[in-house]
Amino acid sequence: MQDLEYVKSKVRDILDFPQKGIVFKDLTTAFKDPQAMAIMGRELSAMFAGKGVTKVVGIESRGFIAGAIMAYELGAGFVPIRKPGKLPADTIKATYDKEYGTDTIEIHSDAITPDDIVVIHDDVLATGGTMAAAYNLVKSMNPKKIYINFISEIAVLEGRKNLPAEAEVSSLIEF
Ligand code: AMP
Repeated sequence: MQDLEYVKSKVRDILDFPQKGIVFKDLTTAFKDPQAMAIMGRELSAMFAGKGVTKVVGIESRGFIAGAIMAYELGAGFVPIRKPGKLPADTIKATYDKEYGTDTIEIHSDAITPDDIVVIHDDVLATGGTMAAAYNLVKSMNPKKIYINFISEIAVLEGRKNLPAEAEVSSLIEF
């Protein structure tokens, strides 16, 4: 089996989570598999080799897992984007619409500098709302370049349409 097909085979569908009608792509089954973990770490890092990436920004919480591996492999720093009230120093916040209600995310206001080349990483692209908000937070700190990256993308939800047109978006696997 090809490497990426192997990773795909380790992603589990959970019906009606966290609410009725949602098919949740559960990557914990890929994270717990040593071979899938190795492939994800290697392939995600390879996508950005030679691009001069200085910071990988991971979105809480599943974006921390491969995001930290990418940062290590690329020789970059790691920056968390978290839910409100979790980061200890000065933050900037973005509030965005979700399917039901709104949500807020935060980043430390000194996390990114104009010299940075940034990859923002999350595990799954669904509607794209969270990533669009994360992009706006990072963009407000004026880095040289921002890449958007996911392990997997749920194509039918067309989340790419909700991401900024100027952003370079990539994912390892697609459902
Ligand atoms: P989004 O709709 O793209 O803003 O997704 C919000 C967050 O929930 C992201 O961190 C996604 O990884 C996660 N998420 C949303 N829908 C799903 C789904 N069907 N399967 C797995 N993760 C999801």
